[in-house]
Amino acid sequence: RVKEEGRNGLRFYHDSMQEAVRERVAIEQGLREALVHERFRLHLQPQADATGRIVGAEVLLRWLRDDGQLVAPGVFIDIAEETGLIVPIGRWVLRQACELLARWDSMPRAGTPQSPLALSVNVSSRQFRQPDFVDDVLAIVRASGADPRRLVLEVTESVFLGDLDDSARRLQALRAHGIQISLDDFGTGYSSLSYLRSLQVDEVKIDQSFVRSMLHDRGSDAIVRAVIALSNTLGLRTVAEGVETPQQRDYLLEQGCRVLQGYLIGRPTPCEQWASALPPPASGAEPG
Ligand code: C2E
Ligand code: MG
Ligand code: MG
Ligand code: MG
Repeated sequence: RVKEEGRNGLRFYHDSMQEAVRERVAIEQGLREALVHERFRLHLQPQADATGRIVGAEVLLRWLRDDGQLVAPGVFIDIAEETGLIVPIGRWVLRQACELLARWDSMPRAGTPQSPLALSVNVSSRQFRQPDFVDDVLAIVRASGADPRRLVLEVTESVFLGDLDDSARRLQALRAHGIQISLDDFGTGYSSLSYLRSLQVDEVKIDQSFVRSMLHDRGSDAIVRAVIALSNTLGLRTVAEGVETPQQRDYLLEQGCRVLQGYLIGRPTPCEQWASALPPPASGAEPG
């Protein structure tokens, strides 16, 4: 009896493994088709300064499946990364974002003078390590007519796992053309605070896990305050991710954080709804 149960257990294990493999293959195939048929969409999430003014937005990728379902990157980014599909997908995202920047610039700004927004685009490590990454980015920016100073590339600490000098050179080359660099999810990876000094970045994004717990966890609170203080000393802009409550906002501003991003400021919304670089009036289109 025991033996039989064991066999059933093994069989169940085997089946769920097969199921997982099938799902991966289906996602990979779906991503390939989505690339060909441009079934990706961009959502923008606003970023506000201390006065509440919207100063930028992060570009967040969505996959529009054939059944009409909009899929968040958590489901497919890892697979895109492992299969290398993230390279053409990332290039597509960058091109769309740059074209959006250029289009906004060509539109007359109605009402009060609004300084132009910056757009932040996520770049995966695999993409960043492509030999022609810098040239590729510069070519896309140039072709779009976007102002490179309004483009922010978000990289994570993992880009520094490889050849640190090479990574630094790439960042420097991009910055020499006016493109800004942001260190995303800061504090979750392998970084040490000393990277902030030696690396050529303009902005540090405090990961939302710290923001979520900083008001009731002393460790998170200490990290948040240390990162903000050091960033300010080094002249770097700090952006807090995942700001959901007024208490979190007030505390972050009190500590000297310069820019806030999170559901409290606004949810990610389809980029078509952003008329001439302003977020849609009711930015709550995306649940969760
Ligand atoms: P990220 O770059 O750290 O983006 C922030 C994520 O936090 C987004 O999830 C956003 O929707 C979510 N978020 C924003 N505010 C709040 C909040 O107040 N509370 C909570 N709980 N969550 C909030 P999303 O859109 O699902 O993206 C997940 C990750 O996928 C991103 O994390 C980024 O690493 C990756 N990603 C998204 N778009 C791209 C892309 O175009 N290229 C690459 N390589 N990665 C991307
Ligand atoms: Mg990001
Ligand atoms: Mg992040
Ligand atoms: Mg994150």
